[in-house]
Amino acid sequence: MSKALDIAIVGYGTAGQALAVLLTRDDHRVQVFEQAPTPGPVGAGFLLQPSGLQALWEMQLLPQVLEHGAVVRRLYGETPCGRAVMDMHYAGLDARLCGVGMQRGALFSLLDSAWQGREALHVDSRIVAIDETLRRVQDHRGHWHGPFDLVIATDGSASGLRAQVQGTRLDRVYPWGALWCLLPRGDWAFGDELRQRYVAARKMIGLLPVGTRPGDDEPRLSFFWSLPREGFGAWEQAGLEPWLDEIEQLWPEARQRLQGVNVQTQLARASYRDAVMERWYRGRLVLAGDAAHSMSPQLGQGVNMALLDAIALRDALRTEIGIDAALARYQGQRKAHVWLYQFWSRWLTPVFQSERDWVANARDLLFKPMGRMPGGRGHMLRVLSGTQHGLFGKLALDSAFIADLQAAVTSGDRRHDAMPMTPLAESACCPTEPTS
Ligand SMILES: Cc1cc2nc3c(=O)[nH]c(=O)nc-3n(C[C@H](O)[C@H](O)[C@H](O)COP(=O)(O)OP(=O)(O)OC[C@H]3O[C@@H](n4cnc5c(N)ncnc54)[C@H](O)[C@@H]3O)c2cc1C
Repeated sequence: MSKALDIAIVGYGTAGQALAVLLTRDDHRVQVFEQAPTPGPVGAGFLLQPSGLQALWEMQLLPQVLEHGAVVRRLYGETPCGRAVMDMHYAGLDARLCGVGMQRGALFSLLDSAWQGREALHVDSRIVAIDETLRRVQDHRGHWHGPFDLVIATDGSASGLRAQVQGTRLDRVYPWGALWCLLPRGDWAFGDELRQRYVAARKMIGLLPVGTRPGDDEPRLSFFWSLPREGFGAWEQAGLEPWLDEIEQLWPEARQRLQGVNVQTQLARASYRDAVMERWYRGRLVLAGDAAHSMSPQLGQGVNMALLDAIALRDALRTEIGIDAALARYQGQRKAHVWLYQFWSRWLTPVFQSERDWVANARDLLFKPMGRMPGGRGHMLRVLSGTQHGLFGKLALDSAFIADLQAAVTSGDRRHDAMPMTPLAESACCPTEPTS
């Protein structure tokens, strides 16, 4: 498409930010509407997969990402007795691949700095309606904006614009959520691993190295504690001490990391949705990011998918002559990739977050052997890394991206080797786990 378009983006999260960068670079006239008076990251950290890293490489942001993020080579989950449940290495897929843990604030800043059009960001501007032409949007003060050639809804998992596409197959909130926060990494021993500890599916602690962020050189961990959404209130009423004692029982080293947590408000609450759309656009309104395909964070894919959506929509607008054809191309390409991740997230979430102890017992027995089976192992690794495409296909990774990633990680390793780290002793505790 050679014509520059007038484009509205609703929401300045990862999907909205990436689209603002990419579409402005392609000379489209972009306006972004964000409800927050001071836009910024919500939550702690996340894991970028090779799929999302490739999208950031295409945006020429990989060096900055690796400057701040923490290279992750292994995904490891165990019971408090030390029985491994999950043990996956990116090297099992390709020795040159890895994930990168990042603070939300770091990616937010990198994308924000990369957008050459920030004066077109309307903050404190919550979009509450779209007109029947699907080309004008109304903010909460009653002002109409537009008409636009294209309205992109990137308003997140609880999207208010999603229903306007009129293709909702499923949209529900998961019964379980999480508490999460950033903690100083200190002398945490597992600098390149996502580490999780489970008590059946009722309790889960996760610790992910997420590196630094611009303006703050303290390397951090993203901490995750799973609990049912209806348990948020009881957790708050009980106060911090019993909860910290419980963590001490399950994972003393994790409790040490929480030393600076003195008030419950230091932990943010997260809930998540499962939203499946038959179609991702109607007229000139199109969905991207969680607005198009909200899923639980069990597979750690949402940010990665949002970045891939942005690249795919940019490319479709470049390739096709008309907007309708571009949106059809974008939808076809992204739906073909996303559905499998939504499927697995839906099935895996109760395996890690529920009261179904028999499911957790089966998980503890079968998950690791399944990850060793020929065929099973490759599929699991590709799903985790975001590179599985449909049941039998693979998402192609560019050889130039893989070479750049490997070179940057190797030079980072050399710098890191110069910094001594004191490993902590493995926990010897073994609290009783529910078995029935
Ligand atoms: C606990 C947890 C852990 C996670 N871990 C990972 C991980 O490891 N890896 C990973 O890839 N993903 C992870 N995710 C998922 C990831 O956070 C999301 O998929 C991703 O943030 C979606 O980006 P988005 O831009 O679509 O939506 P969001 O980041 O939610 O952005 C939406 C934006 O729209 C704005 N907005 C909403 N409504 C309006 C409106 N009406 N008008 C104007 N603005 C509006 C919001 O204020 C927000 O800024 C995790 C999620 C959770 C909850």
